[in-house]
Amino acid sequence: MKRQETTETALFVSQTAEKGGAELFMLDLITHGPAGWNGGFFADGTIVQDLAAAGCKPVVLSGGSSVLTVRREASALKLVSVAGGVVTLARALARAAKDYDVVCANSQKALFVSALATRLARRPLVWVLHDIITDPAFSRNTRRAAVLFANLFAARVVANSRASAEAFVAAGGKADRVRIVYCGFDPAAHPQGDAETGAALRRRFGLKDGPVVGLFGRLTPWKGQHVLLKALRGVPDVQALIVGSAMFGQDAYEVELRQMVRTEGLEGRVCFAGFQKDVAALMAGVDIVVHTSTHAEPFGRVVVEGMLAGRPVIATSGGGVNEIVTEGEDGLLVSPDDPAALAAAISRLLADPDLAARLAAAGRISAARRFHIDKTCGDMRAVLAEVR
Ligand code: UDP
Repeated sequence: MKRQETTETALFVSQTAEKGGAELFMLDLITHGPAGWNGGFFADGTIVQDLAAAGCKPVVLSGGSSVLTVRREASALKLVSVAGGVVTLARALARAAKDYDVVCANSQKALFVSALATRLARRPLVWVLHDIITDPAFSRNTRRAAVLFANLFAARVVANSRASAEAFVAAGGKADRVRIVYCGFDPAAHPQGDAETGAALRRRFGLKDGPVVGLFGRLTPWKGQHVLLKALRGVPDVQALIVGSAMFGQDAYEVELRQMVRTEGLEGRVCFAGFQKDVAALMAGVDIVVHTSTHAEPFGRVVVEGMLAGRPVIATSGGGVNEIVTEGEDGLLVSPDDPAALAAAISRLLADPDLAARLAAAGRISAARRFHIDKTCGDMRAVLAEVR
């Protein structure tokens, strides 16, 4: 990992240091960007350790626990009740922010705290937006508050896709402040598999010979793991490796999925692998990477990762995914929540290895070119230069 020696400094702030897509974006950015970029967190977690292992000195602010308990569908009353915690945290962040030219809030909760902190520290604020904020998962209050804070306090809003940018503007966000910076990846960290990679993967997870499709992501209803389970009925010889764990209080869905394996008669064909750190290596060992989100994905890191692994990818259309995959050229797109269409796409790739190989090869090239971490760091530097 090379960090560039420049005089630019920026503090990227996240409320959590657990590994979701937004936090992994931040990890990649900081470890590949200028040496003066750092991470600040409201709680300790694995990303803090990863940054420290990469030679960074991440800032962990104490007192963030009350802010962490607020969910995005929270009521106005709940938001008011944590206001005191926000002020304490903002003061601590303001002290840390004095060492940086710019503060970049990497989530909505980070935006609220960073807005106050940057006022106190007299530093410009950039909001890195990883969500489609018109999604019904956000309460009206949360959405309104986020747009209001962004319009009042953020010099720039960096959206992780055109879809996220357009939703922000549709919700009343100021269009002239928006810039798009896609997630970036280091292609060298995404190995290509061979026959032995596939065999090792089957041994490791107790899978049999025969086709394996891999689904990667948190276990939560909108990521659509249930859609894959339903699709498996239409492709009787296919096994599924489901990688990811329930995060942010979604344990009931995991119970439901395991129950579904029994009721659908899929025993012995589905492996729940839990959270895995080596997603890139695992993707290289499956035959097809599928993506099954039932709602428009703000970006969809796993889709790019599947392409970089040199695997054919089937993704659900919508949101950022349509900016990643060109149907029939570097992957296949199916409608969300359509198990029959997913089963048909899986059958099509298994029946036509030439098509699968062509999509996989094109996918690797297009993903490495368009979503390279160096490009992401360059795009982010350009935005920060506008506000510095
Ligand atoms: N991921 C991981 N281990 C897992 C499951 C997922 O490291 O067991 C990673 C995955 O490789 C991807 C990220 O989590 O980089 C998820 O990002 P994505 O944009 O797909 O979804 P999000 O969680 O941000 O909605």
